[in-house]
Amino acid sequence: MAQVQTFWAVDYQAGDPELWVCLSCLNEVFRCKVPMPDCPSCHGVSTYDAFTLEAIRDWGTEELIRKAEAAQSEPVPTPSPVSAPEASSVASD
Ligand SMILES: [Zn+2]
Repeated sequence: MAQVQTFWAVDYQAGDPELWVCLSCLNEVFRCKVPMPDCPSCHGVSTYDAFTLEAIRDWGTEELIRKAEAAQSEPVPTPSPVSAPEASSVASD
């Protein structure tokens, strides 16, 4: 089932850990955002905590580390959605 996962954008400051790991299942990791309303793997609520990639490499499973590396290469989500400028093309003849 392809369900659309929604996320909370996490408010973070420069220098803070960017990777949010589910401490309940240790199977999900996201960059600067956490899934809502709960973890897609274990459905735990408020089970996420922030870590650096280095920390995850230290104790994470191979799969978690892979996910963390993939998440790290994702762009950081913007907290407030910016409306894209409308490309209005008027077709006239
Ligand atoms: Zn989980």
